[in-house]
Amino acid sequence: MNCRHCGTPLTHTFLDLGAAPPSNAYLSADDLSRPELHYPLKVKVCDCCWLVQTEDYAQADELFRPDYAYFSSTSTGWLRHAAQYAQTMIHRLGLGKDSLVIEVACNDGYLLRNFVAADIPCLGIEPTASTASAAEQLGIPVLREFFGEQLGRQLVAQGRQADLIIGNNVYAHVPDINDFTRGLKAALKPGGTITLEFPHLMELLEHSQFDTVYHEHFSYLSLYTVSKIFQSVGLRIWDTEQLPTHGGSLRVFACHSDDPRKAASTVADLLEEETRHGLQIIGAYEGFQEHADRVKNDLLAFLIEQKKAGKKVVGYGAAAKGNTLLNYAGVKTDLLPFVSDAAPSKQEKFLPGSRIPVLAPSKLVEYHPDYVLILPWNIAQEVRVQLAELADGGTRFVTAVPSLEIV
Ligand SMILES: [Zn+2]
Repeated sequence: MNCRHCGTPLTHTFLDLGAAPPSNAYLSADDLSRPELHYPLKVKVCDCCWLVQTEDYAQADELFRPDYAYFSSTSTGWLRHAAQYAQTMIHRLGLGKDSLVIEVACNDGYLLRNFVAADIPCLGIEPTASTASAAEQLGIPVLREFFGEQLGRQLVAQGRQADLIIGNNVYAHVPDINDFTRGLKAALKPGGTITLEFPHLMELLEHSQFDTVYHEHFSYLSLYTVSKIFQSVGLRIWDTEQLPTHGGSLRVFACHSDDPRKAASTVADLLEEETRHGLQIIGAYEGFQEHADRVKNDLLAFLIEQKKAGKKVVGYGAAAKGNTLLNYAGVKTDLLPFVSDAAPSKQEKFLPGSRIPVLAPSKLVEYHPDYVLILPWNIAQEVRVQLAELADGGTRFVTAVPSLEIV
């Protein structure tokens, strides 16, 4: 396999998690009598442009199925984050009635609703039917397509170039990152701004976040590599922000290469910090598997110990990262009888691979567990507040990444 950005043959394996089903392929009760497709889950690193990427194995349309169950609006913290971002951008870029805001992968409209409320024209792009119709109900026009160069050119032909193009947690999920970036370039008005948010590779390495690896997540990105990809299509990064979301994300601000805007000092500073962390040295990537294995082994040891002691442990949060962790560790219902989740679209379904049932939070309260394993550790604080009633009754909370912690 060759690097998806620069074409260099990939010779270094960064992480090998065996084989797993797509992490958002939740099962219905009927599905339990059928087999599940497992795909290899292996990540490589390019020693030329340092793009960390999953091994090729399947088409994107097999992963993002029409019944895709992730609705952004179910996380209150995420909604707040989106509203703050919209207010800041409207002010910073002076957006108004004559502007156009495009969001690629607009999901259920969790972000664009803020622009609709401010009377700023917007357009969502979302290939997943269930979330796209939720966005349309909020008054957001949605194109139900995958974004890339072709769609970018189509928008230009229709006179729909954007003053602001937003891509939150989509850039890492596109199989053809070069084509997608050419699409951004095409759809951007002269003088316009692109902002992308993606989990920062430096944090993944630093905090053993191996469970953020799943099939739908094709690339693991540093500022260094994203700058290179942008440069290759005629775009330039002029500012960056480090965000706490998803265990440490980057927000990059980009413009056309010939835009007169000056780059903020944050760009050079962060590039330097990445270099200090060794992100352009193969040694920084070797040994990561060992960290992943330690997290997995510690979790298994904990679950087995509690089982022997007759304690009740259940999970919270049917998130993609939880599925990676549970499937790599081989955890089944004997060690974790159910996982609770607030999203109605996931309740009464089963986790892919482990086939652990997903139940409503009310069931969790009835069950009186001794421990709740919070799978999306990035929102652990929020979950603990939601489940304060359980804590009052003596339940304790556990997170497994970056190391097993009981709180
Ligand atoms: Zn490369």
